[in-house]
Amino acid sequence: MDQISQKRSSVDGRRVLVSKRGISKTLSLYKITNNVICFHPTTQSTTSECIPQHTSWLSRLFLLLTATTTVASPNIIHLLKPHSGSGGHKHSDLNCLSWRLAVETNNLRKWTQVPQECEDYVGHYMLGKQYRQDCDLVAAAAYEYAKGLNLTGDGKDVWVFDIDETTLSNLPYYARDTVAFGAIPFNATMFNAWVEEATAPAIPGSLKLYKKLIKLGLKIVFLTGSEDTYREARVKNLKAVGYTTWEKLILKGAGEGSGVVYKSKKRKELEEAGYRIRGNMGDQWSDLLGNNVGERTFKLPDPMYYIG
Ligand SMILES: [Mg+2]
Repeated sequence: MDQISQKRSSVDGRRVLVSKRGISKTLSLYKITNNVICFHPTTQSTTSECIPQHTSWLSRLFLLLTATTTVASPNIIHLLKPHSGSGGHKHSDLNCLSWRLAVETNNLRKWTQVPQECEDYVGHYMLGKQYRQDCDLVAAAAYEYAKGLNLTGDGKDVWVFDIDETTLSNLPYYARDTVAFGAIPFNATMFNAWVEEATAPAIPGSLKLYKKLIKLGLKIVFLTGSEDTYREARVKNLKAVGYTTWEKLILKGAGEGSGVVYKSKKRKELEEAGYRIRGNMGDQWSDLLGNNVGERTFKLPDPMYYIG
C-alpha cells in the first residue's frame, strides 16, 4: 500500500504531497536540524559544516549538488542527527515518541486527538515501515502462542478480533489532509461515510494470522465498536479483502455503553454460550480490558485515536 496524503514536509515545513515511498526517501536523504541541513551517513559531524538554512536558494542548490556528488567523503558530508537527540541537540520527534509510548502503554488515556506537533511524527510512523513491522510482530507472537494451544476440536475455541485498526486499516481515511492522522478533531459524519464505502484494506499481518488461526482449528469472532447500522458495509469490506468466514460478527447496538462495558458484556455472553476465548486482539485497550478478556490478549499499535 503506497498511501498518498498531503502533509507538512519535515524538510522545509511546506505542505506537500507525500507517499510512503516519498517519506522514506526524504528521511534517508537529509533533514533540517537546528536550521541546518545535515546529510548522512558518515561519522560524527559538527553543525558548522552543514548548510545553514538561511543561505540563498541558489547557494543551497549549489551546495546540495556539491554535497551529493561528494557523498563518499566523510569530511564533507555529515551525519543525519539521530532522532534520539544525541550530541546535545534536542529533536522534536523525541517528545512525540514519548507520547506514542505513553499511548501504547495506556499511561495516557482519554486523549481526544493527536497533538498538533506530532502530526508529522504519527504520519511518518503510520505510513512508514515501523507500523507495518510492529503489526507483523504482534501477529507473529500471537501465532506462536496459538500454535501451542491444546484445542478441543468441538468448535468452541474462539479467537476474538476487533475490526478497525486490527483487521481492517482506516489509514487511507486517516491520511487525508482533512483528518491529518488524528491531529484534527474526529468527525463522525466523515468517518461513517468512509465506513460506508467499505474499501478499507486488510492489515496484512492480521489477515495472515486470521488464515493461520482457522487452519489451526480456531473459530473467529469479530467484535467491533462499529454500530450495527454498518453491518452490511462491514461484511462487504471484510469479505472483499479476504476475511471470508467467521463464527460471529458482533456489532454495537444503541445504548450499549463504553467500549470496555460493551465488549466485556459481549465476551461474557460468548463464554456463557460455551465458547472459550483463547485469544483476543485489538488496537485499543478497551478491547482488552474489563471482564472475560480471554486467555491471552494482544495489542496492536494505534497512535491515531483513543476509544475508552
Ligand atoms: Mg479498533
